[in-house]
Amino acid sequence: MLPFNEDFSTISSQLDEMFRKYFQCNDLEQQGKILASICSLGPLSYEFNLDYLQSQKFIDSIMSCKDYLTNRCLYQTYSDFIENKDYHGKVFSNCFQYLNRYFENNWKPSHSYSFSSMDIVHDEDLHLLYDFFNTKAPYLRKTYDDLVACHNLYSSYHLLNDQCLIYFNLYTKSPLIFLTEQPKNLAGLNDLVHELGHAFDFEMNFKDSSFEELFHHLFFNVLGETMSIYHSQQFLEFLLEDNKYKDDAIFLLKNFFHDNIKLLWESYVLTLPSKKSMLKNITHIQSLNVLETELVFQKKLTKNSISFYDRFVNLNMQPVYTYGFLFANYLLEHPEDFPKFRTLEHQDFTVSTLESMGITNDKLVKSLVKRTNTIFNKYI
Ligand SMILES: [Zn+2]
Repeated sequence: MLPFNEDFSTISSQLDEMFRKYFQCNDLEQQGKILASICSLGPLSYEFNLDYLQSQKFIDSIMSCKDYLTNRCLYQTYSDFIENKDYHGKVFSNCFQYLNRYFENNWKPSHSYSFSSMDIVHDEDLHLLYDFFNTKAPYLRKTYDDLVACHNLYSSYHLLNDQCLIYFNLYTKSPLIFLTEQPKNLAGLNDLVHELGHAFDFEMNFKDSSFEELFHHLFFNVLGETMSIYHSQQFLEFLLEDNKYKDDAIFLLKNFFHDNIKLLWESYVLTLPSKKSMLKNITHIQSLNVLETELVFQKKLTKNSISFYDRFVNLNMQPVYTYGFLFANYLLEHPEDFPKFRTLEHQDFTVSTLESMGITNDKLVKSLVKRTNTIFNKYI
């Protein structure tokens, strides 16, 4: 059983304080900073029934602050990505083609796999977590222990679609992890490990950062997402080595890779429109099928490449997770580069940052090929 905190009074009074400052403030830049801190905890207002969020003054301010946030953070962050869209498109397309071929030939869920993840009992969650920390990621143990000691591991029934998520409290500069309930199975426990990867990233890099650095990091957070996906995949691979959990771990890993095939395709599609149109749609959430249909019309895609499913796609979602997945596999293959990779955290994610580390398109594909073969050929 994880030691949850169910008392929200501290967060509630922090939010009260922030709203008070927010309404007293007349300086747009300062207001933007307070707003960002409120937004970092805003979704928690479900817990407190806050009326402030509905007030017209607050809604109007959000609109003017949105310009501040867009101009200062979004354009700065995305301009390099858009400028190098063909480079990124090629990375996504090469990796998509490899994984798609691989799984069409190999992804055959056998009857022996359980389709609902394996249940865990009693204190098995804590045993597994500590076993994982001790064998694979000792530093993550400290992240977890600190989170519990600061009462920042919460349970909440109000998370919308997620079973587990993390907020980074910009007010106190500390990570808060929320779970709807005790993890009942390995999939639930893996979600927690993912968020602990984010907590580790925050703790290590942003505890003493300026507000600008922090806020910048929260947009297009490729390097942070790498830390969470890296630990999540490492946890699944750790389970794979244990006979008791092997079948379940194979199933979870296959699902994990399958989800990433989708993300690779969606990220590739997002790099196909013109630079002008990408700039215009930086903050837009688009329908994948609508975007694909437009690209067919522009002869950038063929008709039979339209997806069978529709999903929302956005420049701040798919490419972030996709690069997180590709870097995670790169680092699992090249553990010697882990410390060097960590030093990138305060830099923007750009093509030249990648190249300064010697991470090329070719190396990303090769690492993915090698890791996929090791996992799936060894265990199937
Ligand atoms: Zn994440």
